[in-house]
Amino acid sequence: MSKKELRFNSKTIHGGQHPDEAYGAVMPPIYQTSTYAQTTPGGHKGFEYSRSANPTRTALENALASIENGTYGLAFASGLSAIDAVIKLLEPGDEVVSTNDLYGGSYRLFKRIFEKYGIKFHFVGMQDVDAIEAHINNNTKLIWVETPTNPMMNIIDIKAVSTLAKKYRVLLAVDNTFATPYLQRPLDLGADIVMHSATKYLGGHSDLVVGALVVKDKELADKLYFIQNASGAVCGPMDSFLTLRGIKTLHVRMQRHCENGEAVANYLAKHPKIEKVYWPGFESHPNHDIAKSQMSGFGGMISFVPKGSSYEEAIKIVEKLEVFTLAESLGGVESLAGHPASMTHASIPKEEREKTGIVNTLIRLSVGIEDAADLIADLEQAIG
Ligand SMILES: *Cc1c(COP(=O)(O)O)cnc(C)c1O
Repeated sequence: MSKKELRFNSKTIHGGQHPDEAYGAVMPPIYQTSTYAQTTPGGHKGFEYSRSANPTRTALENALASIENGTYGLAFASGLSAIDAVIKLLEPGDEVVSTNDLYGGSYRLFKRIFEKYGIKFHFVGMQDVDAIEAHINNNTKLIWVETPTNPMMNIIDIKAVSTLAKKYRVLLAVDNTFATPYLQRPLDLGADIVMHSATKYLGGHSDLVVGALVVKDKELADKLYFIQNASGAVCGPMDSFLTLRGIKTLHVRMQRHCENGEAVANYLAKHPKIEKVYWPGFESHPNHDIAKSQMSGFGGMISFVPKGSSYEEAIKIVEKLEVFTLAESLGGVESLAGHPASMTHASIPKEEREKTGIVNTLIRLSVGIEDAADLIADLEQAIG
């Protein structure tokens, strides 16, 4: 059986991989080198300088392409530098329609860096696909989708947005950080570019900062590779190795993240002191049907609002947690809790935040792969 035909749970381990040519090492060696000996000018074995390409990074890039059902993978120094490369496809005067409820750092990059260079961003509630169409004009070049959204767990219909993108000949990029290819594969649903903060679930162990892009189209891959090499925010060999190692257990970790996420979401939903729980697995979730059709599970990201609580009381809950660590980030084996308004989303103005539901008492959980009973007991003692 060719490795091309493997199922997802085998692709995480074998996709795009082969034993190292020098000694047959099963894991690609960490090629900690900047340059490569040449026999004559240009006489090299495919690698000249590690910004342009490095064998450990190439191994990761091939794995990324495989698990997202793409053709070309590109690994960056961070998720934000991967997004930066996508926006650099554009020119002054171009416009982007973006999800309104998105990662705070993506919003900051769009508003504070790229608007200065004459690129215009429209932030739209994309659960309503017609609202996207209303913002498309002749200058629109890109639709930027994040789903599930962060931290409100809204679900955007990737297939419907891709139909719209094709109608207007606009690129569609999807930030797939929350779902991972285990749950959702945007290229199969018609997206042109998939982006990851591999810092989160792909790496999975909270021990690195890495970004990724995956595409199918060669011309688009060439343009992005040109930007990656010209701007230089590449993923180093050590981080490439660690990300690759993380990807090998993605499917087993995600299975447990989903199970624990469901247990914690159900516990919170029944708790008398909890006002609202945001998790796409609930049948009452407004976009549950779309989640069910485009995702194979609902993940371990949950947001909730304690009943009648003040800002101080919400802060007290996250401070009291002992198994959950109060920290930025998500997607690691350990459970994390965060307070978006003061942490991950502090760079979004309060009025903008509250428009999308990020109230001052919202708490976000990244449910890890510990024993679910310990996670629930921890929440119980913190919520009281
Ligand atoms: C963390 C994150 C990013 C940014 O990635 P970095 O690796 O921190 O640069 C982008 N999108 C989402 C959804 C994220 O969670």
